[in-house]
Amino acid sequence: PWKHCIWSSMLFNVGFLEAMKDLDWDCLVFHDVDHIPENDRNYYGCGQMPRHFAAKLDKYMYLLPYSEFFGGVSGLTVEQFRKINGFPNAFWGWGGEDDDLWNRVHYAGLNITRPEGEMGKYKSIPHHHRGEVQFLGRYKLLRYSKERQHLDGLNNLNYTPEISLSSLYKNITVDLHPDLAPIADY
Ligand code: BGC
Repeated sequence: PWKHCIWSSMLFNVGFLEAMKDLDWDCLVFHDVDHIPENDRNYYGCGQMPRHFAAKLDKYMYLLPYSEFFGGVSGLTVEQFRKINGFPNAFWGWGGEDDDLWNRVHYAGLNITRPEGEMGKYKSIPHHHRGEVQFLGRYKLLRYSKERQHLDGLNNLNYTPEISLSSLYKNITVDLHPDLAPIADY
């Protein structure tokens, strides 16, 4: 039944766990591939609090669509990311995983910072969304972010990576489906 490629934020957790096998990183930047930074002073580093780098997107007229927006490009220390139990695995298709990450950060007693002024400007490369499914289940899941935070994330994820090394990059293929991260029924 999982013939089609449906994106899940589970992939961010896989990326994190695989990266940590390579080196003892201390700062993580989760980056939508279709977001191009317009200002090279937007320093991709971590701090005391998680950071929302993509504060001003051209597709939102360089304004925050809402004050809790945490999408596009975000950065957390490994310590912060482990504390919030990573991304949720239960979000499939388009939308909501960044909102859940915002909730996780705040339920863990953290806040976010954003670059000032022009620095957080990004262009989003226009592309079609044909065949993409909006994840309508996100609203219900988001109501239970707090309860789910310690049940769904880094601690319930199982996967088997297939890795091939190239001179400039490492290709990691994973076959993901919801059973690989079972969660309580919320
Ligand atoms: C979605 C987010 C998305 C935001 C802005 C929200 O409805 O849940 O995932 O980033 O809209 O497009």
